[in-house]
Amino acid sequence: MSPSDDIASFQDALRKAKQVAILAGAGLSAASGIPTYRGKGGIWHEHDHDKVASLDGFKKDPAPVWQFHHWIKQVCLAASVNDAHRVLASLSLPEVRGKVLSGLKDPSSPPLLITQNMDGLSSLALDSLKDQLSPEDMHKAKHERLIEMHGNIYRQTCLQCRHTSVSTDCHLADQFAGSKVQSSTSSAKLALDQLPRCGGSSWNGSNRYGKCGGPLRPAVVWFGEIPEGMGDIGRYLNWTDMLIVVGTSAIVQPAAGFIKAVKDRGGKVAFFNLEKVEKDQDADWLFLGRCEETLPLALGLTNTI
Ligand SMILES: [Zn+2]
Repeated sequence: MSPSDDIASFQDALRKAKQVAILAGAGLSAASGIPTYRGKGGIWHEHDHDKVASLDGFKKDPAPVWQFHHWIKQVCLAASVNDAHRVLASLSLPEVRGKVLSGLKDPSSPPLLITQNMDGLSSLALDSLKDQLSPEDMHKAKHERLIEMHGNIYRQTCLQCRHTSVSTDCHLADQFAGSKVQSSTSSAKLALDQLPRCGGSSWNGSNRYGKCGGPLRPAVVWFGEIPEGMGDIGRYLNWTDMLIVVGTSAIVQPAAGFIKAVKDRGGKVAFFNLEKVEKDQDADWLFLGRCEETLPLALGLTNTI
């Protein structure tokens, strides 16, 4: 049976759902100006991911890897949240859950948002609710109910002492710090001693944790690496009876497995994508169009964003 696009039956199922998860991909941030990776005109059509987004590539030559991530970071810094981020963040508000998700087994917690995006925009959307959420609820929404499974472009980890830091600075050599790199294929080539180091560029010979002088890597999940939070995601999906898929074809594992896990346990799946994808044939609902428009409409939350 082909999926339904009936909003009333979707909202009815949402009100009956006991545990809800959202799986988001690049389409969620498309309206924010973040380029997609695999889609038409996607980043991997122009860039060799083995070279710029793998540990092997980093070990062979870290300079183009940092240059690529520096470019992505600048794109993310220039982006702002869109209505799809906002409406998902609004599910952290108890009064919104009371209206849309009134049957939750744990009404005190928002649904789990699993994002494949490393742009930090889902977290930023939550920040804008700081006057409406208690500090405890904000902590829960940002740290327990948001999993950035591919990492975050603003974090970096030291390969030597494993310290992870968060920074919106560009974290590259001084010559890059003040200038905008127009693309990841910029011809300027970084020397090894210009790459980010643990403790910063003014490292003074210390070997302390977080200041050891070791090489830093972007704390994002590269090709061949295991996504973050897989244990937590698996445990949560075991009890999930409604999965909302936003802006992702979900063809690639492990995302494809998340849909199967929910369906195999009798759960429902709703897709929000720009166009039809192979996987949406498994869905119970399919809402085609720009997710920043379809999502608030289907959730009945056009007035809350
Ligand atoms: Zn270190």
